[in-house]
Amino acid sequence: MNSSTILEQPWDVVIIGSGAAALASALSAIESTTPSPRVLLVDKCPESWAGGNGYFTAGAYRTQHNGLEDILPVVSNVADDIVDKIDLPAYTHADFQGDLDRVTGDRSDKNLGSYLVGESLDTVKWLKGHGVDWWLSFRRQAYQVDGRWVFWGGLHLTVKDGGKGLIKNMTDAVKKSGCTIMHDTAATKLLTNDKRAVCGVEVQREGKTYQLKVPGVIMCAGGFEANPELRKKYLGPGWELAHTRGTPYNTGDMLAAALVLGAKTVGDFSPTGCHSVAWDANSPKDGGDREKTNEFTKSGYPLGLMLNSEGNRFVDEGIDLRNYTYAKFGRAILEQPGGIAFQIWDKDGQGWLRDEEYREEIVKKIKADSIEELAQKCCEDGLRDSSNFVRTVQEYNAAVASHRQENPDAKLNPAIKDGLSTQSSKTKLNLAKSNWALPIIKPPFLAVKVTSGITFTFGGLAINPDNAAVLREDGSEIEGLHCAGEMVGGLFYGNYPGGSGLTAGGVFGRRAGRAAGERAQRSHRMQRL
Ligand SMILES: Cc1cc2nc3c(=O)[nH]c(=O)nc-3n(C[C@H](O)[C@H](O)[C@H](O)COP(=O)(O)OP(=O)(O)OC[C@H]3O[C@@H](n4cnc5c(N)ncnc54)[C@H](O)[C@@H]3O)c2cc1C
Repeated sequence: MNSSTILEQPWDVVIIGSGAAALASALSAIESTTPSPRVLLVDKCPESWAGGNGYFTAGAYRTQHNGLEDILPVVSNVADDIVDKIDLPAYTHADFQGDLDRVTGDRSDKNLGSYLVGESLDTVKWLKGHGVDWWLSFRRQAYQVDGRWVFWGGLHLTVKDGGKGLIKNMTDAVKKSGCTIMHDTAATKLLTNDKRAVCGVEVQREGKTYQLKVPGVIMCAGGFEANPELRKKYLGPGWELAHTRGTPYNTGDMLAAALVLGAKTVGDFSPTGCHSVAWDANSPKDGGDREKTNEFTKSGYPLGLMLNSEGNRFVDEGIDLRNYTYAKFGRAILEQPGGIAFQIWDKDGQGWLRDEEYREEIVKKIKADSIEELAQKCCEDGLRDSSNFVRTVQEYNAAVASHRQENPDAKLNPAIKDGLSTQSSKTKLNLAKSNWALPIIKPPFLAVKVTSGITFTFGGLAINPDNAAVLREDGSEIEGLHCAGEMVGGLFYGNYPGGSGLTAGGVFGRRAGRAAGERAQRSHRMQRL
């Protein structure tokens, strides 16, 4: 069947996007009623860019659980002889909700959050039933401490082959379920009837416009992170300079289309309104690399230092576990002169760096045998004040030494907030490093240049969490219009607990799919009467 014939045939549910939220919506829509609705996914990207940002992820998936008893039945990578060597604390509903509240400064919408948290484990199990190959996240979320695998940070699940694996597993399931996916097909406009309900969507493909009349439309078209103009407009000046970490196709088209219908925006549209990380300064600027995907992330700073181009530290690198700081430190880097920073470690600190992000082939490494030489070499890459760089490291090392003198039994433990800090009764830095403060004294020394990589935007559309229906300003539902994934606003403000984006797409995608499928069935019944 050619593409025109496909687009011109009748459909019950059209889903905009082919990322994880769209795929969850499709799987849920198809199983919502008997017989199944006819489900079409359209994505404006070519097939070679399928999977949206989901493809670029590490597949890290945050879920509440009661420890190994919940996790072992869903993962496929834990051999029997290793089970006794795993320390995996329960991560309860209260823990997940507490982290969401804490990192967002208590601004996350409690109602949305209770759905996200409450349905996270069930969504994991449901996706397993659809072929997602869950793994326990040994490489990213556990440290080997005294011969045991100690998991940390509430983020314990990933997928075999990360985001690539997740999208492949889900796309296979969607295709198997009988849904159709059309790439190179951009949604441009939402169609409404005289009751102000959405009754279809206009799409463009190969220069031709099609009006798809359907009872249910689900928008999973991502945020506006790949649109420098909208970033500047909503997040403020400077944000147009960030590197786009994932798909270049999330340009806010559907946000604009929904606003035309009077949809209500909600959430963080301020300069803190996006997820952004320390990202390889030598990475492509306007979109991710399909091969390297998440490997440009540079999240080894908790065991090192970050200095700006003036040679000053600007964040407490050890204020919290990486999962609770990495999504806001991109902004802190963007705010530095030139929007860059240098991450540095000595020989011991380098031992903790993950190969995935810091191996020779993936990042330009600036190496030296002394801090002075390191500073000189960093000048070739944008450091402006090498003397201050050296002074900052010396002051830091002196503060670490004072702390060790007062706390001779203190021991490094990267899996917990270990209290190894720069603050003692004798010496206190103006900007503390609160945990994992290793001295930077043993050659060889390493520096890596980072910039800010934007991941996704936090502000979005208001939904009824029950059916993921898009709301108007007055709180009423726009009938026939649902949304899930990054397009939903109100969950994240200023910061984000790592691994919650995919979970949010799964939970609300599932609800959107069910609601749109049931609406299609009701609409058929009405037509038959
Ligand atoms: C490098 C990176 C690493 C990440 N790691 C993680 C992680 O490990 N864990 C986690 O939870 N989250 C992670 N995230 C965030 C996560 O990717 C998102 O929260 C989630 O994938 C969003 O899913 P989505 O379906 O809403 O959007 P997307 O997956 O981005 O899909 C949106 C799709 O909509 C399409 N589209 C846009 N406009 C239109 C239009 N007008 N018409 C048709 N199609 C359109 C786009 O082409 C795109 O394919 C990461 C993101 C990046 C970039």
